[in-house]
Amino acid sequence: MATDTKAIVVTGAASGIGAATVEELARKGARVLAVDLRLPPDPPPELADRVVPYQADVSDPQAVEGMVAAAVEQFGTLDGIFNNAGILGAIAAIPEYPEAVFDEVLRVNVCGVFYGMKFAIPELRRAGGGAIVNTASIAALGGGAEASAYVASKHAVLGLTRSAALEVAKDGIAVNALCPGETDTRMQEDVGVLTPEARAEAAERSSPMGRWAEAEEVARLTAWLLLEAPAFVTGTPLIIDGGTTA
Ligand code: NAD
Repeated sequence: MATDTKAIVVTGAASGIGAATVEELARKGARVLAVDLRLPPDPPPELADRVVPYQADVSDPQAVEGMVAAAVEQFGTLDGIFNNAGILGAIAAIPEYPEAVFDEVLRVNVCGVFYGMKFAIPELRRAGGGAIVNTASIAALGGGAEASAYVASKHAVLGLTRSAALEVAKDGIAVNALCPGETDTRMQEDVGVLTPEARAEAAERSSPMGRWAEAEEVARLTAWLLLEAPAFVTGTPLIIDGGTTA
C-alpha cells in the first residue's frame, strides 16, 4: 500500500543496490527518477506510473544538472536523492595501479556524489527539506589492499556527507552515508568472484553470518533513510554489513 508520494532521484539504478532501491521506493508509493549510464530497464507494470528511467553519466556535471532538472520537471518537486552510482576500478597494488583508472574511480564515486548534492540541495531547500543518501561502503571505515582508489573514494564520500550534513542541517535536509559490506551484486563480478560456489565460499570466509547482503535488504535501509528516518539522523555512516566491522 502506498505510504509516501515523495519524489526521489536514484543513481546507479540499472543494477544491484540502486535497482532494488528504485523498486522498494516505488512500492512504498514514492515517485522515482531511475538514473544510470545505460537507460535502466522499464519497471514492472504495476510501478510504471511511478518510475521514470533516465540516462545520465554522474561524472558529467552538466548531465547531473540536467538529471535534477528532469526530476523537478517530471514530478514538480524534489524530496530526496540517492547518490549511489559507483565503480570498483582496478584490483592492483599502488605501484601497478593505472593512473587513468584511479582518476576515473574518483570522477564517478566522488565527483558524482558531489555533483548530485550540488544540484539537488537548492531544489531540496525549495521543497522545504528532504533527504540525501550517499553510497559509501565499509571501505569508508578502513583500508583495503589493492583497492586504493575505491577505498580513497569511499572515505571521500563519507567526508563529503559529513560536510554537507553540517551545511544543510538548518534547512531540514538530512544527509547520510550508506555503508554496506559485501553485497551480492554485479560489482562482485568485477572483483573476479564469478561462480556461485566461489561466491558462497568467499562469503563464508569474509562474513560472520556466512553470507553477503542481498541488494533488497540494503534497499530497505536506504528507503527508510529517504522516506521515514527521524530528522535527527544526519551526518552519519549507516553500516549494514552483517557484523563484519563489529
Ligand atoms: P552494480 O555494479 O550492480 O551497480 C552500479 C550501477 O552504477 C551500474 O548500473 C552502473 O551502470 C552504474 N554506474 C556506473 N558508473 C556510472 C556513471 N558514471 N553514471 C551513472 N551510472 C553509473 O553495483 P552495486 O553493488 O549495486 O553498487 C552500488 C553502490 O554500492 C556503489 O557505489 C558501490 O561502490 C556500493 N557498494 C557496493 C558493495 C558491494 O559489495 N556490491 C559494497 C559496498 C558499497
